[in-house]
Amino acid sequence: MGRKKKIGFADLQATHAELEGGEVRCPECKRKLSEADGLRFVRGFGQAEPSLAALNCPRCRTMISIRIIATT
Ligand SMILES: [Zn+2]
Repeated sequence: MGRKKKIGFADLQATHAELEGGEVRCPECKRKLSEADGLRFVRGFGQAEPSLAALNCPRCRTMISIRIIATT
């Protein structure tokens, strides 16, 4: 009887520069994440910059949400 791997969730924090530079990694499988993986930016109402990004890791399917930290 095989155990099915449960899809996990992860909450990360990153700056825009880290996201664009491909420095954000999946905490489960350490795969580097980029916009090419289907990253979706979530924009809050009335906000000029998206504050949250979400994607499913293409390798391990972990659902990842990334809180985008504003840099000054
Ligand atoms: Zn992964």
